[in-house]
Amino acid sequence: HQVSSDIVIERPNNSFPKTKPRSEGSRLRILVTGGTGFVGSHLVDKLMKQGHEVIALDNYFTGRKRNVEQWIGHPNFELVHHDVVNPYYIEADQIYHLASPASPPHYMYNPVKTLKTNAIGTVNMLGLARRVKARMLLASTSEIYGDPEIHPQPETYWGHVNTIGPRSCYDEGKRVAESLMMAYQKQEKVEIRIARIFNTFGPKMHMNDGRVVSNFILQALQNQPITIYGEGEQTRSFQYVDDLVDGLISLMNSNTTLPVNLGNPEEYTIKEFAELIKRLVGSNSRIINHPKQEDDPKQRKPDITRAAELLNWKPKISMKEGLKKTIEYFRDELEQEKVKIKK
Ligand code: NAD
Ligand code: UDP
Repeated sequence: HQVSSDIVIERPNNSFPKTKPRSEGSRLRILVTGGTGFVGSHLVDKLMKQGHEVIALDNYFTGRKRNVEQWIGHPNFELVHHDVVNPYYIEADQIYHLASPASPPHYMYNPVKTLKTNAIGTVNMLGLARRVKARMLLASTSEIYGDPEIHPQPETYWGHVNTIGPRSCYDEGKRVAESLMMAYQKQEKVEIRIARIFNTFGPKMHMNDGRVVSNFILQALQNQPITIYGEGEQTRSFQYVDDLVDGLISLMNSNTTLPVNLGNPEEYTIKEFAELIKRLVGSNSRIINHPKQEDDPKQRKPDITRAAELLNWKPKISMKEGLKKTIEYFRDELEQEKVKIKK
């Protein structure tokens, strides 16, 4: 099972995006695991533009080379096909550890692999960080709060997770990843950072991603029914990917080892969200209800006080503004599909 399909264009040497000139001394070697995925590829773009050396490592489960094709052949960029379940040896100053499926249908597809990726994969990256004295940031998730009984969720909340439910491979996988980060910090003195990421969307999301933003936009653009799971009274708060990337980089370069929520507190019910997307797209889609998903969290909204205090970070892009850009991206993707089919 591989979600990706890939066509990569090799670029002539002079057609790379602009990168900041840097002296050898100020240029860092940065490993991004999951570097060809949705968030990973946006992070790679920003770090490359800042003039760093970037190694994007991925097993292409849900990532694709196309997401980083603009850097292929650039002297500061390296693409590595590797699975984090196996150890990896390289020199690096910083590690952003993002490798893990993130969409419920993807992480539920092979729950054993999801657990191995988050547990063994995180041990392997922490072992690497210890050996080369790199600072490591874990992409954790709001899912560690489970179906939360406290609203909004501050980092001090311990969560409400069903250990034997269908989401536990991901939720518990990320919880053990956080525990591993803390253990390696305490025992092995690894410098750690933990980002608890809330629902994020934007361009470069996979057409088959299966999460609500891509599903609803693609359904609306094709005038197909918009599928709400359950009654649609459950809530989510969505952040645009550029805000997340800024938050991840600020957190990595801060001096806090506490977990930090990164999300946009603008909260919508899924029903409101479906109506909003239908309106923004100008679609004729009907909105229909599918059966409720097991253990689907009823509400989710980040308390971002800590990010504001410690990182001076808050989201800058409103959900509507972000949605407009994302709708345009999916419109283009659909056009390209049509061209491919005609050929
Ligand atoms: P994504 O599926 O687009 O990216 C994940 C990447 O990890 C893919 O490129 C995939 O191929 C790679 N990967 C998976 N297993 C791997 C393995 N064993 N070895 C190497 N590479 C592997 O998802 P995303 O939305 O970009 O998520 C990135 C990270 O952020 C994940 O760790 C996810 O848990 C976390 N996160 C994302 C969100 C969100 O809303 N996007 C929310 C919370 C947390
Ligand atoms: N959802 C939905 N229809 C879809 C996909 C998702 O109603 O086609 C709902 C899902 O049940 C959940 C919310 O949208 O309540 C967010 O789902 P997503 O898979 O994006 O991420 P989650 O926050 O659950 O990890």
